[in-house]
Amino acid sequence: MPLPVLIVGAGLGGICLAQALKKNNIPFKLFEQDEKSTFRAQGYRLRITKHGVDALKEALTPELFTLFEKTCADTPAIGVRIRPDGTHIPSPGGFRPAGSQSKSYTVDRSTFREALLTGLEGHVFFGKSLEQYTIHPDKVTVYFADGSTEDGSLLVGADGVRSQVRKQYLPSFQGLDTGTRIIFGKTPSTPEFLAKLAEEYRHGMSLVLDPEDPSQPCVLFESINFPYVNEIIEPQLPDPYMYWVLCTQSSQIPISREKSWHINPQESADLSRKLTSSWNPSLRAIFDMQDSSQSAIRSILSAMPEIAPWEPSSRVTLLGDAIHVMPPTGAMGANTALRDAADLARRIATAGGVEGVDEVVVGDYEANLRGFAKTAIELSWQGGMKSFGLKPVEQCERIIL
Ligand SMILES: Cc1cc2nc3c(=O)[nH]c(=O)nc-3n(C[C@H](O)[C@H](O)[C@H](O)COP(=O)(O)OP(=O)(O)OC[C@H]3O[C@@H](n4cnc5c(N)ncnc54)[C@H](O)[C@@H]3O)c2cc1C
Repeated sequence: MPLPVLIVGAGLGGICLAQALKKNNIPFKLFEQDEKSTFRAQGYRLRITKHGVDALKEALTPELFTLFEKTCADTPAIGVRIRPDGTHIPSPGGFRPAGSQSKSYTVDRSTFREALLTGLEGHVFFGKSLEQYTIHPDKVTVYFADGSTEDGSLLVGADGVRSQVRKQYLPSFQGLDTGTRIIFGKTPSTPEFLAKLAEEYRHGMSLVLDPEDPSQPCVLFESINFPYVNEIIEPQLPDPYMYWVLCTQSSQIPISREKSWHINPQESADLSRKLTSSWNPSLRAIFDMQDSSQSAIRSILSAMPEIAPWEPSSRVTLLGDAIHVMPPTGAMGANTALRDAADLARRIATAGGVEGVDEVVVGDYEANLRGFAKTAIELSWQGGMKSFGLKPVEQCERIIL
């Protein structure tokens, strides 16, 4: 029996890779630092578009793909553009979300993650935080914070933007701090909330911005409803809610990059209320009536659009945000992570399984990943500069990610 592929990080990319390896009968183990019962607030919805959908069709069994579809929310196409005082901004055809050109799906991140975990019992291990790894001629060994170790044939770092695998493998990997900060959250669609919300804000994905002063915060919001709520038992679908994400500049949120990871949900919620306190009452209700336990602040970081190549290894590679984090303004980050996962699994299967994986197989995967990520990062920037006040790449601070 060959040693398993060790996947570190049970985010969307890592779980999708696990499903694809399972489908191809390739041995694997999936490790996640979080305790399953204490998932952090993940109060946002994701749009899954063409590349993500294609990857899911390839990675999942038909039954699991059907479950994915039935755990999705409705996908609205067009919303309104308004100023903070509620007046309309003329926009021919309305405000069209990124990726709305092809069939897309809308998922609640936590629900999507739960659905993707279906059938992985016995292969996924929670409470396992990777600290480091060592490479040997015939294997890779990973070391966890709880003192345990594991041997594998290939380590895949799917551990997100602060990837420990990348920090060890590519310690001087360059990225960008865009200077944009986001606060995101959920507002339950209770009768009390709906009574305060203007009818035109209840449908579609809407954008609030001040075209006369782009330095002011802007907000994207969208009602999330699950059409199959009476049909699906596992995972349990959330009650309807309003998803919102507020974008602003770091000058308006004087919190360091590192500290933004540690701001608690209540503080994030309070800050969102403060930043919108002068807005029209109907819009303000979104922030006043939010579920404060679901809110979070993030610094918008990105890999360089041109990711510099590195010498491939047959024992370690990366996928998803761990290697190509990008602004969420193009709705491409998760789609790219899912695409990476399906692509890597296909290459391992084509090589005849883990024993056939060498530097060439991994190197080809990584070259392809860099090419796709470049397009996705550029698209994210286009969307971000057009609607969310993102600065051009050249004006962003270069950082070691
Ligand atoms: C507000 C918002 C909206 C977005 N909207 C969209 C959208 O509409 N469409 C889209 O495509 N993308 C969107 N994105 C981006 C998308 O969420 C990310 O690109 C995607 O989640 C990346 O998936 P991943 O699996 O690479 O990483 P993650 O989802 O970050 O998963 C990484 C996992 O690794 C675990 N981990 C970290 N360190 C360790 C360790 N040392 N040991 C073990 N485990 C570890 C983490 O706990 C986590 O579970 C959005 C992002 C935000 C913030």
